[in-house]
Amino acid sequence: MAAEICVYCSSSTSIQDTFVEAAEQTGRLLADRGYHLVFGGGSRGLMGTVARAVQAHGGYVFGVIPEALKSKEGIAYELADELVVTQTMQERKAIMFTRADAFIVLPGGFGTLEELMEVLTLKILGYHDKAIALINTDGFYDPLLKLFEHFYHEHLAHEYTRGLYHIVSTPDEALAYIEQYHPPLLL
Ligand code: AMP
Repeated sequence: MAAEICVYCSSSTSIQDTFVEAAEQTGRLLADRGYHLVFGGGSRGLMGTVARAVQAHGGYVFGVIPEALKSKEGIAYELADELVVTQTMQERKAIMFTRADAFIVLPGGFGTLEELMEVLTLKILGYHDKAIALINTDGFYDPLLKLFEHFYHEHLAHEYTRGLYHIVSTPDEALAYIEQYHPPLLL
């Protein structure tokens, strides 16, 4: 089976063009290089953009969405090659986390941040050693990265944590990082 890459990103529909372009490029690159997309199964915002771009370029889309979001908001990406409907958000996150061989984070809001923090903190604690690439489109994540620097400065996080995620500017760089990735020796 092809390697599967999980993409976390915004579900918002009011997104600036450069973010949409980054999501489209990410989807195209995943398909062109033969990776399957693992994502939250939504059709709105950058989530839908990535999924549509993957399929437009002949790739495979695996979505996981909680029942409550699917039925109440009607936002499931029904065109996914595989769509799993879970009872809870916890099950969704566990399936996405388990299926993924690597993680890419595009611009996003609270949900995306929560997902990034979960895979990063699990990696810090040694639960996995999968690559995490943060695409900092147009400096979108600069305020978050400043907060991370604050953690290091105040000794609230170990410096080695810097090596557990990788900041890039473009989807090309994210894929390049993932393809040459070697897991760090965790403490
Ligand atoms: P957002 O970045 O807020 O647009 O959310 C992006 C995706 O994250 C959406 O599919 C949300 O359903 C999902 N999400 C929201 N809250 C959570 C959470 N607590 N855990 C995992 N995913 C979430």
